[in-house]
Amino acid sequence: MVEERPSGELPLPGRSDPGILGMDPQEMRRLGYKVVDLLVERWRSLPDAPAFRSAVRSDTESLLREPAPEEGQSPDAVIERAVEDVLQLAGRIDHPRFVAFIPSSPTWPGVLADFLVAGYNPFQGTWLESAGPSQVELVVIEWFCQWIGLPEGSGGVFTSGGSAANLGALVAARERAGHPADAVIYVSDQGHSSMERAARIAGIRPAGIEKIPVDEDFRMDVEELARRLELNRAAGRAALLVCANAGATNTGVVDTLAPIAELARRYHAWYHVDAAYGGFASLVPEGLAELKGIEQADSVTLDPHKWLFQPYEAGCLLVRDPTSLEDAFAVTPEYLQDTELGMEQINFANRSLQLSRSFKALKVWMSIQTLGLGRFREAIQAALDQAKRAHGYVSLSSVLEPLAPASLGVVCFRYVGKVSSWDPKALEGINVAIQASLIKDGFAMMSSTRLHGVYSLRICAMNHRTTWEDIEAILQRVEEAGNELCAAP
Ligand SMILES: *Cc1c(COP(=O)(O)O)cnc(C)c1O
Repeated sequence: MVEERPSGELPLPGRSDPGILGMDPQEMRRLGYKVVDLLVERWRSLPDAPAFRSAVRSDTESLLREPAPEEGQSPDAVIERAVEDVLQLAGRIDHPRFVAFIPSSPTWPGVLADFLVAGYNPFQGTWLESAGPSQVELVVIEWFCQWIGLPEGSGGVFTSGGSAANLGALVAARERAGHPADAVIYVSDQGHSSMERAARIAGIRPAGIEKIPVDEDFRMDVEELARRLELNRAAGRAALLVCANAGATNTGVVDTLAPIAELARRYHAWYHVDAAYGGFASLVPEGLAELKGIEQADSVTLDPHKWLFQPYEAGCLLVRDPTSLEDAFAVTPEYLQDTELGMEQINFANRSLQLSRSFKALKVWMSIQTLGLGRFREAIQAALDQAKRAHGYVSLSSVLEPLAPASLGVVCFRYVGKVSSWDPKALEGINVAIQASLIKDGFAMMSSTRLHGVYSLRICAMNHRTTWEDIEAILQRVEEAGNELCAAP
């Protein structure tokens, strides 16, 4: 047993020097406070800093490429260099005007939790080594299941992110189906690329992926899904998994989940819902209504590092039947025989790829314990409202037009100016130039996509720091940049 010692003393009795790789406790404190001060100052000044920063490889090479030093250096100098030369040369994904891709803007309790976890370094693979942390992982997963309406007895596992969760779902589905030789998975053509990668890892060839087209609102065409399921059944090809989107990355669209669930059931396919970012909309009534049908899923992917405001990495796979995960992933070699403590004591290593695992649930738990779920609901509702308001602004603008309905915080639109008939290439050119000019001056970071082949600007308002004033200012910049480009000879 390690005895508890008063703070400031070293943990092992009779040991006065900190060891080969240790540090003096006073120095540890001083450096820790220095890092806290740096982070708090960064967060305070973030809105005044550019929304985006990057560098080309030749510059980063000359700054950083060097042999590993044989002798240590001043820790202050190393921290300062890590900030100046490394961390600052990155997208400011938590900046209030970073509305590109899917932003991630962590809470402070979430950041502190990751620091605590790194310092305690629990081994979150087995109950034997990690009882308290495993219980918290169970608790947080149960919260998630309740939020989206999965029944009592559902469960899951924290993962590195949505990609790992999607892969886990696919492997669980394949194992449950008995690994059929000629199996097909069904995804919408708006599905996230990680499902395609998961298929490749799981040994499903491109011919085994049916990409179902979408309707004009970017929802999976359910009749086409039914037609292909039937065609493949007639050809003797098993339906392994049907994946619906609940918050597609391009447009935020939610597929018509309940009819897809019904089809999946009819064809004995595993029903997976990729709700990586969108699933947390379930915390507000309006979002829960949009997600209707998600509660029928066999599995759901969630990414707390997106719309639950946690630092990377935090993904999660929820399953209706946790034994399906253990049937797919559990392997107990002789050297882990001590870790089998009975069914009640969950070994999370048996639910995914990872044996050594970090304790990712703590950041969610500490954030919610500290701030309260009510404030998360408010932040999610604010993002929904801002996107709808942005869609309204775009619809009323004399020079912008929406390209998709606002959905789960995402707005897709483009500049069209006052010209009534555009050459499509020229119009695309103007929008590409608008996007480039916004990134260049650092005011905001937006991204672009293609919808039914049309170049689209895209705003994803999913940051608790972002205000309507930020979004409005971005839209005004887009209008101005477009007008200037059109006026130019
Ligand atoms: C982000 C995202 C993923 C991938 O998740 P990672 O955490 O980046 O691995 C998958 N699906 C959807 C819908 C996403 O938004």
